[in-house]
Amino acid sequence: MQNGDRFVAMDGQGKSWLAQIEGESAYIIESITISTELPISITLIAALPKGNNFEQVVKSCTELGVSTFIPTISGRTLLKPSTHKLERWRKIATEAAEQSERQIVPSILNPVSFTEALSTVSNKETARYICVARGDLPSLWSCLQAKSEEEIVIAIGCEGGWTPVEINQAIELGYQPVSLGRRILRAVTAPIVAVSMVVAACER
Ligand code: SAH
Repeated sequence: MQNGDRFVAMDGQGKSWLAQIEGESAYIIESITISTELPISITLIAALPKGNNFEQVVKSCTELGVSTFIPTISGRTLLKPSTHKLERWRKIATEAAEQSERQIVPSILNPVSFTEALSTVSNKETARYICVARGDLPSLWSCLQAKSEEEIVIAIGCEGGWTPVEINQAIELGYQPVSLGRRILRAVTAPIVAVSMVVAACER
């Protein structure tokens, strides 16, 4: 960008300003209202997939409007995330939020065990779903038609899926097991599909 060019400055917490470059610095022209956030807050509990796959999940789901990511070490998670990875995911979320003109940069919590992830969501009003790849389950889409929530949490497994114990643990805490269709989706694809359904249901 050059002297005199204008750009939008955002604080990542909901505020935006129109700014203009002048010499080596920039000045604010005015505060502006951008309205790109979903009317619902989505928390994604994601059992960490292999390799760098969670990077794609963070990128796509930030574009779609997720508010909070809870990276989770489930019974079948193979990845042992380093602090370095957490920093990288946060950087990816910041860049994806900028690119999608989001008003907020989603939070990515420190990786936790599945039990801790489930207990992080304490608000009783929050709608809770756990996506399970097999079984005769109601579809997430039909569940979303029946309710209008302000907060929703969706748990998605890694490549190996959830253990039966994890599914039961979630059910005991009020999570509804749901299907995303009859085909088995990859651990990277499933969160994108689930979040897209929420977006479609609440932004008609
Ligand atoms: N290996 C497992 C599937 C894992 S798929 C198996 O063979 O059963 C990775 C994760 O994506 C799953 O744990 C689930 O949370 C989600 N997922 C994939 N396909 C799905 C579907 N059709 N319905 C609901 N969840 C699905």
